[in-house]
Amino acid sequence: MRRPGISIATGSVAILLASVAGAIVAALWASPWWAFGVALAGEAIVLVWWAWRARRAAPSRQNNPGRARATRRSRLRTQLRAVRDAVGALPDAVVLFDGQGRVRWFNAAATRLLGVQRSHLGQPLVQPLAGSELGAWLRTDTTQPATDLPAPTDASLRLAATIMPFGRQLKLLLARDISALSRLEQVRRDFVANVSHELRTPLTVIHGYLELLDPAEVPELAPVLDEMRMQSQRMRQIVEDLLTLSRLETGDALPDEEVAMIPLLETLRREAAALSRGRHTIRVEAATQARLRGSIHHLHSAFSNLVSNAVRYTPTGGEIVIDWRQTADGGAIFSVRDSGLGISAEHQARLTERFYRVSSSRSRESGGTGLGLSIVKHVLNLHQGHLAIESEPGHGSTFSCVMDASRVLPPDGGGGSRTGLSAA
Ligand code: ADP
Repeated sequence: MRRPGISIATGSVAILLASVAGAIVAALWASPWWAFGVALAGEAIVLVWWAWRARRAAPSRQNNPGRARATRRSRLRTQLRAVRDAVGALPDAVVLFDGQGRVRWFNAAATRLLGVQRSHLGQPLVQPLAGSELGAWLRTDTTQPATDLPAPTDASLRLAATIMPFGRQLKLLLARDISALSRLEQVRRDFVANVSHELRTPLTVIHGYLELLDPAEVPELAPVLDEMRMQSQRMRQIVEDLLTLSRLETGDALPDEEVAMIPLLETLRREAAALSRGRHTIRVEAATQARLRGSIHHLHSAFSNLVSNAVRYTPTGGEIVIDWRQTADGGAIFSVRDSGLGISAEHQARLTERFYRVSSSRSRESGGTGLGLSIVKHVLNLHQGHLAIESEPGHGSTFSCVMDASRVLPPDGGGGSRTGLSAA
């Protein structure tokens, strides 16, 4: 809004005219010096007038809240447009949706990767994703990001997706095209699986011939033969473990069997006792008779890996406890506790990596391949469980398989009494 009053230009012209008129009158009636003085005074008044008006105009803009708000709003609008343009140009799909799951905004990549169109604005987000694996993920548990799912618009594209809160009411679905990465990962998996498969037959043949050779017939070669047998057995074990990992990595669903834990705990105790050959005290503590739903073969293999590690990394005279108990949330924990060497914190996070060993020589001496915990992690993942490690150097370790409530079945025929089995 313009302020009422004489404008700067009108005022200046009036003063200039007055000073010119004054100068003419002075020149006619007095002297040229008077005319010069009057003109100069007029110029000076105009300058002071300009400066005064300018000073008044500046603070008036600042103190005008309406105008300031409008300026701020327009600046924010420009910035918002710039942000939208930038997000709109992202190669990742971004969909903004509200508490009821209705689409509020999306970018161009969301149309390409997810099939979200303008007609879906205000509609439930599950609508364009109906029938896709991404839609199924969105309807169930989005607390965990989706790591590798086919794109709803093109099954040859692979997506990683996650949901993030946005403001108080809104959420963002972010989906990234990971097709190139997924292809590379597939190439790596195929390579490892093929190499392992190709090595299996020649290794079996070599191992077979070595078994035929009797060291008693060539006593001078006995130590060499023993070493060759041990190494070929180690290679066979590595190949078998790599093939197991490859099969687990394909992510194929494992059989859903009812796993009775009490007999399995007893089997594990017997296996540990056989491996320990009386060097350790081995106990089973079963605080529940709950069962598990999953693959008997794979769960046995994972649990047995932990038990064998406890035996191999616990010095003679140590104690190993195989524990099975339920948790307050309906889940259950299978754990193996030992009084062995323990593992320092910096190694713990990396133990489930392939071929990661705290001490390579100790692992080899004890017949390890460095793949055991990696297999355990994969088996647990496929059962919606996870591995937890607690350990302190010199004070032993506890490896726990934490199983989700959805995998825990009640005891067969009831009961929940404490069972204690032990071997020394
Ligand atoms: P490995 O075949 O070498 O035992 P794993 O994947 O089973 O391979 O274990 C990885 C490494 O973790 C082992 O080399 C060892 O250093 C360490 N480790 C595993 N279990 C234990 C344990 N109970 N106590 C101490 N160290 C352990």
